[in-house]
Amino acid sequence: MKLTDIISSNTFTLSFEVFPPKTNARLESVRQATEEIAALHPAFISVTYGAGGSGSRYTLEIARNLQKKGLTEILPHLTCVDAARDEVRQYLADLREAGMHNVMALRGDLPEHMTPRMMGNAPYPHAADLIRDIRAAGDFCIGAACYPEVHPESKNQQDDLLHLKEKVEAGADFLTTQMFFDNNLLYSFLYKLREMGVTVPVLPGIMPITSAKQISRARTLSGSFMPRRFTALVDRFGSSDAAMQQAGIIYATDQIIDLYANGIRHVHVYTMNKPEVARAIQANLSEILGRDFQ
Ligand code: FAD
Repeated sequence: MKLTDIISSNTFTLSFEVFPPKTNARLESVRQATEEIAALHPAFISVTYGAGGSGSRYTLEIARNLQKKGLTEILPHLTCVDAARDEVRQYLADLREAGMHNVMALRGDLPEHMTPRMMGNAPYPHAADLIRDIRAAGDFCIGAACYPEVHPESKNQQDDLLHLKEKVEAGADFLTTQMFFDNNLLYSFLYKLREMGVTVPVLPGIMPITSAKQISRARTLSGSFMPRRFTALVDRFGSSDAAMQQAGIIYATDQIIDLYANGIRHVHVYTMNKPEVARAIQANLSEILGRDFQ
């Protein structure tokens, strides 16, 4: 099933993101964790693509395994910055053969060895180039990334939004946001996006922070603004893993409830392969999920 059919429904849903292992040694434990997450029957599960293309084999392996279980729809990611056209074609053929019709099309972070000149000569310098090829290759439902707080390489938000519009014009069917910890940033981003005439569904991406050390990683990855309300909670509970996990889950749940209350129906949760976190957030929303409050 195409994800646009799911996310255009009026019921409140959650979807979950998982990531593949980097090595064979972790494959079994990741497989098990992702199966537990799929058993919660989210709207879909996205499976990330190893940075710089590393571990793409494991993306396919985890995605195929979940697809076979048939518990939910699967959204495998694909990055293109250092991909060759025939690799992309092969990946899409593999997805098709496994019965997957959705793909998240990303540029990926620039590898250190890549100079601007190399990038200019690459087949896919930007995600929009990949999206065009996927659209031409067949009937995939295509997701793309967006950044309520502006992509770190962009000059300014206007530039970033124009490039985002290009991705939608190239064929992206929906967008998923980078994590954010202040919903007002999402609301003002959505306002600007809609004003530019971009009307595809936008899935807010919520990252439950469940340990103090996850914070610096989240900051480096996304440059997200951390509201005082949030940092106070980390200052107070960060020294206890159990307390921080509980507080982080409650903070994420609170963000999701506010999003639902303000017109969003579908939220994507970065689970970090933790079934207990996905389960707790789902349980906190048990009287809301799957229902249609007009
Ligand atoms: P692009 O859309 O190409 O944008 C990158 C930068 O280039 C932006 O600053 C944009 O404004 C600019 N730009 C775009 N088009 C042009 C143009 N024509 N001319 C000049 N500038 C332009 N990374 C992974 O490695 N694996 C994953 O699985 C993964 N999943 C992700 C999922 C989500 C929801 C998000 C938000 C990010 C994910 N990332 C992943 C990270 C992502 O790969 C990086 O943020 C990357 O730096 C940008 O990818 P993009 O697809 O947004 O790129």
